[in-house]
Amino acid sequence: MKDAMPQLATDEGRPVADTLAQSPLAIRGMTVSYGEEPAIFSIDLTAEPGAMTAIIGPNGAGKSTLLKAALGIVRPLSGSATVFGKPLAKQRARIAYVPQRASVDWDFPTTVMDVALMGLSRELGLLRPVRARHVAHALACLDRVGMADFADRQIGQLSGGQQQRVFLARALAQDAELYLLDEPFAGVDAATERAIIVVLKELRAEGRTVVAVHHDLSTVAQYFDNVFLINRRKIAEGSVETAFTAANLQEAYGGRLATGQIDQLVLGMV
Ligand code: ADP
Ligand code: MG
Repeated sequence: MKDAMPQLATDEGRPVADTLAQSPLAIRGMTVSYGEEPAIFSIDLTAEPGAMTAIIGPNGAGKSTLLKAALGIVRPLSGSATVFGKPLAKQRARIAYVPQRASVDWDFPTTVMDVALMGLSRELGLLRPVRARHVAHALACLDRVGMADFADRQIGQLSGGQQQRVFLARALAQDAELYLLDEPFAGVDAATERAIIVVLKELRAEGRTVVAVHHDLSTVAQYFDNVFLINRRKIAEGSVETAFTAANLQEAYGGRLATGQIDQLVLGMV
């Protein structure tokens, strides 16, 4: 599989991952099937440490499935994932996952503070008391996403953008090294989008790795270092400059994007 190693070098002087063991997330040969046809087929992905990678592809391309398979939430037919070179089971504390918002049950009666504290569940366990320092840490994470004033609110009473910020705060509370986010900007207001991207770029500046399913092609070049294009099969992987090309977009989206649109996206990059 050596020849399948993607180009990991980028232009901003970030270190080049020369071994798989260093990769925050390495997926190999991942195939998942819910029915007869595989939803994703033999996917290899290697996340670059300390970079932001966008997983892009049309609706139903298997983007969420890929993340869930990497996290062991869905069981693959074949394939595996390692996190910092080790099997997932031993590395869970190093990964924070923000699921696609639509997949969460918002009627569950819980406050914003409760959600942020869930990020500390590994430290807190089920029965240990929540101490002042835990609350202070959760509050600091809520503050980072501009939600500290809402700590006592019921999560169900918030707007979509506010909910998304709170779920990012929960992930921040976890103090992970690898952040996996599924469409963090979907259905959020412009202010929330800006707040989220600021936090993600801070995480990157701290040397953490961000892998996000991203649906808005017009912001790929502005937000991300690397892209992973998928349409059930892997189409391309690499820096935005090398992999976010008209040809790759055409292959991923087919007739769903007009050639004019693709030109604008790719030419708009420079
Ligand atoms: P994306 O996130 O790229 O939009 P998904 O990973 O959600 O795509 O879905 C990929 C394919 O798998 C789609 O055809 C979807 O309908 C199907 N699928 C996803 N989750 C399930 C499930 N739990 N049961 C059956 N089919 C599913
Ligand atoms: Mg999805």
